[in-house]
Amino acid sequence: MEAPSTSQQHDRRSRPQESTGGLWDSVKKAAFVIGSGLFFLVAFRNSVTWHLQRFWGASGDFWQTQWTKLYIAFNGNEAALFIFGAMLVPTFFFWLVNAFLMVVDTTGKPSVITRYRIQTDKNNPVDPERLRQAVKTVLFNQLFLSVPLVVLTFSLMQWRGEPCSPELPTFHWVLLELAICGLLEEILFYYSHRLFHHPTFYKHIHKIHHEWTAPVGVVSLYAHPVEHVCSNMLPALIGPILLGSHLATTSLWFTIALLVTTVSHCGYHLPLLPSPEFHDFHHLKFNQCYGVLGVLDRLHGTDDKFRKTKAYERHTLLLSLTPLTESIPDPPKKSE
Ligand SMILES: [Zn+2]
Ligand SMILES: [Zn+2]
Repeated sequence: MEAPSTSQQHDRRSRPQESTGGLWDSVKKAAFVIGSGLFFLVAFRNSVTWHLQRFWGASGDFWQTQWTKLYIAFNGNEAALFIFGAMLVPTFFFWLVNAFLMVVDTTGKPSVITRYRIQTDKNNPVDPERLRQAVKTVLFNQLFLSVPLVVLTFSLMQWRGEPCSPELPTFHWVLLELAICGLLEEILFYYSHRLFHHPTFYKHIHKIHHEWTAPVGVVSLYAHPVEHVCSNMLPALIGPILLGSHLATTSLWFTIALLVTTVSHCGYHLPLLPSPEFHDFHHLKFNQCYGVLGVLDRLHGTDDKFRKTKAYERHTLLLSLTPLTESIPDPPKKSE
């Protein structure tokens, strides 16, 4: 890699890899969130493609059989199948993970999780009543906004193609679609989110989501109805609609999107999971880090303050068991 230039170093503390950070870092993180497959696919196309095809050849039959069974179990009722795959399955995983997180948040146990808390002085424990209010809003959003929108999406996709086609897409096609969905979400989420930070919209709409300066998992969908539709649902729906994705891909994508947003709000920087530092910092400081992957924040410079913080140094995939608040502690004197 290239050597650090003095112009890049002038405003930074000594930090290894600072010069190669930035956009490339963001792209690497993006690749990780999407599933990291596509990156390698491009870099080592021939050999990796060959291996993946062999892998898919073996497991593809398994998934194809499951899909056929499911189709038969629903008597070919594609609308019901779509609601099941695009709504119930992702929602089930969302609540499964969040139920666990809520137990941790309200009891402060087990310490094997809580020791990874990002804002160490907050949510210890979370006020159960406040959490209950958040859960009620999330349930309202899911029931009265997400369900109708998914039904509408089914009509659109049926008109557009065959979302429940008998044949599953290939492994490569699923990876490619996931990557495109991730990029489309980044673009739509970033700009709609920035718009919601305009004083007019912030005051009436986005302020609700920001009541939690130290977020917890379920806060990912704790938002004003308008924001839930424009910033939470549409950026995730647009990919499958434009691509005419198969229900299997749509279901996988919605599940990934919901779990990624849960992790980015959960308040714990756990080993081997995507770093939540970026969005946690957004909740802490309000006017930084608007995107999901960070690519557009880098391009627009809306992560400039973030990149001068300890949180930025901690914004990495944790590969050890030592919490990053211990290995990269905040300066002794509380700044800002
Ligand atoms: Zn948030
Ligand atoms: Zn915001």
